[in-house]
Amino acid sequence: MNFETKAIHAGFESDPTTGATTFPIYQTASYEYESAEEHSDVFFGRKFGHQYSRITNPTVAAYENRITALTDGKGTLCTASGMAAITTALLSLTSAGDEIIAAKSLFGGTYYLFKHVFENFDITVNYVDTTDLASYEAAITDKTRAIFLETIGNPKMDVPDIAKIAALASQRHIPLVVDGTTTTPYLFDAKAHGVSILVLSTTKYLCGSGTTIGGSITDLGTFDWKQTKSPRIKEVGEKFGDMAFLARARRQVQSNTGSTMSPMNAFIASLGLDTLTLRMDKHCANALALATYFQAHPNVKAVHYPGLSTNPDHDIAKRQFKNRYGGLLTIQVGSKEAAYRVINETKLARILVNIGDTKTLVVHPKSTIYRDFTEQQADEAGVFDDLIRISVGLEHIDDLKADFDQALKKAII
Ligand code: PLP
Repeated sequence: MNFETKAIHAGFESDPTTGATTFPIYQTASYEYESAEEHSDVFFGRKFGHQYSRITNPTVAAYENRITALTDGKGTLCTASGMAAITTALLSLTSAGDEIIAAKSLFGGTYYLFKHVFENFDITVNYVDTTDLASYEAAITDKTRAIFLETIGNPKMDVPDIAKIAALASQRHIPLVVDGTTTTPYLFDAKAHGVSILVLSTTKYLCGSGTTIGGSITDLGTFDWKQTKSPRIKEVGEKFGDMAFLARARRQVQSNTGSTMSPMNAFIASLGLDTLTLRMDKHCANALALATYFQAHPNVKAVHYPGLSTNPDHDIAKRQFKNRYGGLLTIQVGSKEAAYRVINETKLARILVNIGDTKTLVVHPKSTIYRDFTEQQADEAGVFDDLIRISVGLEHIDDLKADFDQALKKAII
């Protein structure tokens, strides 16, 4: 099946009890059994069944199955948010004293997670330039338990050569964890590029309408967990074999930290999958057209979008993302004051911190998401005073051009 067909049919189940073709919302905290024996069998795994919705829920499982099928993975775990997905995946792989290698150009929330939570538990994060394979290699030590990067750095818009980093990680028996939120499985086939674990914020393009926070973790089946250097996963592997990572993530980390996706959110997010490909095609087309327009605009000093042939990562992005480059772009307009003026003068674009909505969204990253970064960190993350991040929506391109044009004209100070 082609991806467009898979997005609608793959892993999709009708409700087994009623045949309802939209999988129902099983809004229940727990599940009742006929006898203490049967209940115990479910807990011991001798019989399949749900115990408690913090651990599993049929509506969430139906959504998980769709993501697994779409990514050709081994299994998926949905989480309360994209941040919960990153937290759960990386906590499952690490213990105190371990190290993670991460790209310098990370979404701010992930950076704060590392700084305020992981470092507090003595898990060190070593940052590298994601476009420089040698810097990944140099950062590997015998304590490295994961390499973490984003398919397109948000908001730096830099694009790593993921197959090369995956080959290096595999050679050194280190799982490569990739945040594919900005590209979605439609633009980026993570398994084909050798990624071990794909994490997504389903809040963004997967859901699509900016209504519902959620996340997912998929084990793509490319990493041999027998080779793991994580003693916890090794231990779980004795019982669960090649499902070791997923079992550790679900049964030990997620179910005990409680970062579960709610059935209502799984239902809403699942509806978004049906239209993912249509929306992504339009996001990508609009973003490319807008980026091209900005390139020729006298009031725009720089445009960052991997779809532009002048972008330094264009060739890698073209090959990696099948000639589509996502719906995010950034522009520089000369000063913070000018950036604020453009943001304030746009009529269609909404001022908020989200991406992947049907509506076009604008934000000044430096004074919001990256407010606590030092100048050096901000520079390395591609966050400049005059930078505006635009999540390009599904409006008519002429309306978007006209809106930004009138805002940019008023921004000359
Ligand atoms: N990863 C990326 C690339 C993001 O842009 C975001 C949020 O903006 C997240 C992860 C976190 O996702 P969530 O807001 O669903 O926790």
